[in-house]
Amino acid sequence: MLWDSVPGQGALKKRLSDAVRHGQVSHAYILEAADLSAGMQMARGFSQLLLCEYGTGCGTCRSCRLVEMGSHLDVIYVLPEKNNVLTVDEIRKKLVDDMEIRPFRSSRKIYVVDQADKMTVEAQNALLKTLEEPPSYGIILLLAENSESFLPTILSRCVLLRLQTDPDPEERFPEEERRAVLSVCLNLHELDSTGISGAVDSWQEAHIPSETVVMLFRYWFRDMLLWKSAGNDTRFLLHSESRNIREAAEHYSFQQIQKALSAVDRAETRIYLNVNETIAFNMLLMDCRPVTENRPLTAEEFDEYLIPDEEEKRFYRMES
Ligand SMILES: [Zn+2]
Repeated sequence: MLWDSVPGQGALKKRLSDAVRHGQVSHAYILEAADLSAGMQMARGFSQLLLCEYGTGCGTCRSCRLVEMGSHLDVIYVLPEKNNVLTVDEIRKKLVDDMEIRPFRSSRKIYVVDQADKMTVEAQNALLKTLEEPPSYGIILLLAENSESFLPTILSRCVLLRLQTDPDPEERFPEEERRAVLSVCLNLHELDSTGISGAVDSWQEAHIPSETVVMLFRYWFRDMLLWKSAGNDTRFLLHSESRNIREAAEHYSFQQIQKALSAVDRAETRIYLNVNETIAFNMLLMDCRPVTENRPLTAEEFDEYLIPDEEEKRFYRMES
């Protein structure tokens, strides 16, 4: 679907899908988005869902394909032309009057108004009458950076939907907590069991929430995997840690990173199941340590896939 290209927005997509499924689609929506191109993709995806011949936004039926190509006759795009304003004439001609004409090939007719906050007051007033008595097939999607620029009479007749701006993943965590957790990630290759329990204790003394630890570990190894597999650090979630992650990656094989990511999933499950946090985190750190020549292997690791090569196995010492 077209809106698949918009990251996140799960709640919003679900809300719109549910509205279509339950036949509770409104006649007018305001899509407020800091990034108007994301707003436009959402509007096009919603149009696809509304007009799909199977009601699913399948992406493959004729209707879905026409929406995707931007050539569906029942999806009308209205955008500011001269001087970057939407005048009353434009709104009348392209929307108000046009809506009198029945849909061409579907049961709905959708008007996507780009930069709708550029409507003049007269234009908004002209739209008002249509919003009050829309024909059964008419749906208006107003895209705007800021919904506050609409007249209260417009606002009260539209369903306001806000696209969530994706918070910077790093900023989701207080800096001190982030440092406390990520410094452990960076030094995992040097930690013995005493070091591990020391690290876990310090997190608990600092009252770092378990979700923070789990999430940061996930980001750390996710970024490391990206680096190892694509040699690319431009899309790191922990972008300010780029240098440290690349440095730590030296100690890990591709498989060890995947093993660490599985360990993060297990830790999350254990915490969810109320396993003692100290135990869960000790296990997490044990499982996330890279195998290096400085650290003896556990018997379990020795037999595991992570060192499939017999020669390589001999290279490491066995932990007694
Ligand atoms: Zn379809």
